[in-house]
Amino acid sequence: MNNIVDDKYFESYFDLNVHELMLKDKPRTLAYKDAIEKNASDFKDKVILDVGSGTGILSMFAAKAGAKKVYAVEGSLMAIYCKQLVEANNLDSIITVIHKRLEDIEQEIPEKVDIIISEWMGFYLFHESMLDSVIYARDKYLKPNGIMFPSRADLFMTPVNLDSFYKKKINFWNDVYGFDFSLLSETAFDIINTAPLTDTLEPSQKILKENNIRQFNFNTITIEELADIVIDDIEFNYNIENPRAIHGFGIWFICYFDGTTTTVELSTSPDDPETHWKQTTILMPQGGIQLQGGEVMKCRLQMTQDIENKRRYELSLDFPDSDDEQDDDQDHEDEDTL
Ligand code: SAH
Repeated sequence: MNNIVDDKYFESYFDLNVHELMLKDKPRTLAYKDAIEKNASDFKDKVILDVGSGTGILSMFAAKAGAKKVYAVEGSLMAIYCKQLVEANNLDSIITVIHKRLEDIEQEIPEKVDIIISEWMGFYLFHESMLDSVIYARDKYLKPNGIMFPSRADLFMTPVNLDSFYKKKINFWNDVYGFDFSLLSETAFDIINTAPLTDTLEPSQKILKENNIRQFNFNTITIEELADIVIDDIEFNYNIENPRAIHGFGIWFICYFDGTTTTVELSTSPDDPETHWKQTTILMPQGGIQLQGGEVMKCRLQMTQDIENKRRYELSLDFPDSDDEQDDDQDHEDEDTL
């Protein structure tokens, strides 16, 4: 990874606001807590590796569930606080905090581990490419048949209607304190359309029930596979006799923690309580199309790691069969981490 890009990445995590946001994201944090507590027998007397420990919260859940030893690896300066928090909670006999990038560790983890826990997920699952580090950790430190938490994820997609969003962002220019600013609407639209949207979708904005477009297994996936993820033959059948505008395609994920006792889910679906990942919407280029009923939309989603900044993906959605080329390339410029 380009070093300057990576230095910036780790600097962005030395920010208490970011960690506060994640800790206050209850569906997120409670899913990890639940997954660990409900599968405590997997953690009892075991060795755990927490990749990207941040404040140390996941390591602490693991220690409380009976882990014998937890290696908490944190690349940003948060590691200093993490160590202090571990001591303040009297867990330093179990949790060893290592202030290093996982990839730079040499002697600090002298054994293989039973479980890897990590909260590495980004927007649309892959933004930030932190999964690369988790796979590196898995291949180097996880015992054969060891457990990955999370273990799997499903990626979902559905066409969405953004009338309310466009009203707020485009129609706004029609009347600005009584003046006509509408000549800026087109520019406003172009600006919006340069990158996928990270925003909360209401269930009512889903035009169809979502497709589960791909399953990912974190025990087997490779770093090479993450460089270019292509999902062909995604099909949506608008078999509803009710005209409706479609403005883009919403994407989100559900992660699964497969413990020996039970599987716990962490959902970022619009149908479930909101998380800080919200949903990602890839906008249609010309502002969308009007569906009449009976349309079959076929598309292909490609997610490619940016060569210059691997932490960023370019998302593109193609409609191979459509007459009017609706191909849409959008670089995810959003520098936000999480
Ligand atoms: N586990 C914490 C923090 C999750 S955010 C929690 O659940 O609240 C991800 C964290 O991983 C960030 O603090 C980031 O600095 C760290 N991180 C990302 N990649 C890493 C790597 N390769 N090595 C070490 N730490 C990493």
